[in-house]
Amino acid sequence: MRPEILNPLFTEIDSLEGVGPKLKKPLAKLWLERVRDVLYHLPERFVTRRAVQDLDDAHVGEQVVVALTTMEHRSPRNPGRGPYRVLTQDAQGNVCTLTYFGRASYTAKKQLPVGETRWVAGRLDQYDQMLQIVHPDHVAEKSADAMGKMVEPIYRLAEGLTQPRIGSFVEQALARAPELPEWIEPTTLKREGWPSWREALALAHQGENEKARDRLAYDELFANALALLLVRQSNRARKGQSLQGDDSLRGKLQLPFPLTGAQERSIAEITGDMAQASPMLRLLQGDVGAGKTVVALEAMLVAVEAGAQAALLAPTELLARQHLESLRNLSASTGVEIALLTGRYKGRARESILMGLLDGSIDIVVGTHAIFQQTVNYKNLGLVVIDEQHRFGVSQRLLLTQKGKVTPHTLAMTATPIPRTLVLANHGEMEVSRLDELPPGRQAIDTRVLPLDRLEDIAAAVGRHVTSGQQAYWVCPMVRGTESENEDLAAAEARYAALKERFGDDVVLVHGQLAPELKDAGMARFASGGAKILVATTVIEVGVDVPNATLMVIEQAERFGLAQLHQLRGRVGRGAEKSTCLLLRGNELSETGKKRLELMKSSQDGFELAEEDLRLRGGGELLGTRQSGDEGFNIASLEQVTRLIDTANNDAKLLVENEGGLEGSGRGEAARTVLYLLERDWGVQTLRGG
Ligand code: ADP
Ligand code: MG
Repeated sequence: MRPEILNPLFTEIDSLEGVGPKLKKPLAKLWLERVRDVLYHLPERFVTRRAVQDLDDAHVGEQVVVALTTMEHRSPRNPGRGPYRVLTQDAQGNVCTLTYFGRASYTAKKQLPVGETRWVAGRLDQYDQMLQIVHPDHVAEKSADAMGKMVEPIYRLAEGLTQPRIGSFVEQALARAPELPEWIEPTTLKREGWPSWREALALAHQGENEKARDRLAYDELFANALALLLVRQSNRARKGQSLQGDDSLRGKLQLPFPLTGAQERSIAEITGDMAQASPMLRLLQGDVGAGKTVVALEAMLVAVEAGAQAALLAPTELLARQHLESLRNLSASTGVEIALLTGRYKGRARESILMGLLDGSIDIVVGTHAIFQQTVNYKNLGLVVIDEQHRFGVSQRLLLTQKGKVTPHTLAMTATPIPRTLVLANHGEMEVSRLDELPPGRQAIDTRVLPLDRLEDIAAAVGRHVTSGQQAYWVCPMVRGTESENEDLAAAEARYAALKERFGDDVVLVHGQLAPELKDAGMARFASGGAKILVATTVIEVGVDVPNATLMVIEQAERFGLAQLHQLRGRVGRGAEKSTCLLLRGNELSETGKKRLELMKSSQDGFELAEEDLRLRGGGELLGTRQSGDEGFNIASLEQVTRLIDTANNDAKLLVENEGGLEGSGRGEAARTVLYLLERDWGVQTLRGG
């Protein structure tokens, strides 16, 4: 189905010269698996080198090109240990050591014969009073070669890769890139003065070029907007079932509180959609503690009243269990049958739940993605609720709705307050309901910023807090999938050990690398009050509800984004007691870091914090490596998203509504091409599936 013209770009990366089995691994670490990925591995920055006559004219730390004459090669004393050194001197007799580690010494031997002069490009450093260049970027016989590289792209690397290597792959990939049909709206292209796709890529690898970068970012936004529009359109054409409740179950509900106006309004919007024959696609946005669960429950009861079943999908086992418990509590008076199904259910237990879903004796099932596996069949699935849906990509969201004979209604929920621009960018296929009013009686959380060196006082305060009968969270950062992941884990474990020394069995540790059983057991002990202090990494970020926990300590708070801090803080302030959040900061705090923490002190409005977060991060910070980007863009930076998203949305709309969408050979074909190129082909799939 992929347009043929793209085939050369989707061939495996080892079709490039120089990519052997050894390099595949480090390349995969950078998500470089196909030729296409190499094209989009855009430089992080560019270095500009200065050609100097001799080293007197250069300063330490500078990127230079200089002529050096080789005097002597020195192998390490113990072979295999220590660097390989080449002693050289410049025209003035200044000595400069060229230092090589590992296998790079082979190249050095070849490139730098004793007594000869070469042009060497690299960063001038000082080591033990000696000038040195570690792993010169280039060594050339004629100056022209080296000079020609004076502005050079710097790529993100992984162990085992070098700049010249990546550079050579990029060069080969560019040579294979075909001219593609233009998908950009002609008026937009003209107004912005953007180069063609192929040219934009070449330019973006060559030097700083805003127009080229913007075009490539726009492509991604456009493909995304287009795919979302197509999903929306095909959803409208799908066969769903109109579900209308008769109040027989909801009438029996005995909620311990009146609903807020925002909850009433959202429920009305949702049940209104569910009564339609075309399937609902709605996002319920509500800050932590806004009361999304009860809204979901009402919707699920409507489905059951209408003779259908409902499924609630949670991102983790832990959250699934909590949901089960709160739904059972809230709905006890109605007599609906609610079951749990997760990946850990095996054998008999699993069989009996599968039976219940098939024969309809289970009305509502709560679980992890296990509830959508092939072998799980429903009698009549009418509503799918997805909690914390930002954890699931659009294509996953779509898969979930393929379960019923007719397409079920979908209610996605998120506690991440998403700025308006990004809602459209990421959830453009959905209608939105906002819970913009918290249940009454919530107290403001007293938030304070303290330096980490007050640790002793803080631990003492935690002690007093616990003695008074309340509980506390102690959060340590853990950035997953990075170099520092192990260090982070070690830090969390060390903190746990220290607190345990002081507080004994009152302390429990929970982190993402624990076996699920241990994690659940730890959480359960804390939730039941058996443990008083929960030391945790960000696994507690979403959903956890322990009203008696009224103190939260967050270490190295500056390492978290505003939205994340807000989510974490939302774990406290859930009961009647006054709550406190202590943000411990390290000593080296950037301006942005400082501003972030200040904002946390002054605001408790998730939507406001999200907008500010976007603004603070906006300046040039790249959005996302594929593994982390909440916002789901790999090419466009946050700043580009905010600047270009409206145009991309409008152009996509124009194409779909006035120009025949993906049909035909002109822009239709171009549009299909960009969907596949930027891997938004789920937009195409839904069209076919529908
Ligand atoms: P979230 O939106 O974060 O999922 P929950 O649904 O877990 O929020 O609700 C948070 C807490 O607020 C729960 O203890 C819930 O029982 C309570 N709650 C929900 N709605 C109301 C309301 N209208 N009035 C008072 N308390 C409410
Ligand atoms: Mg929730």
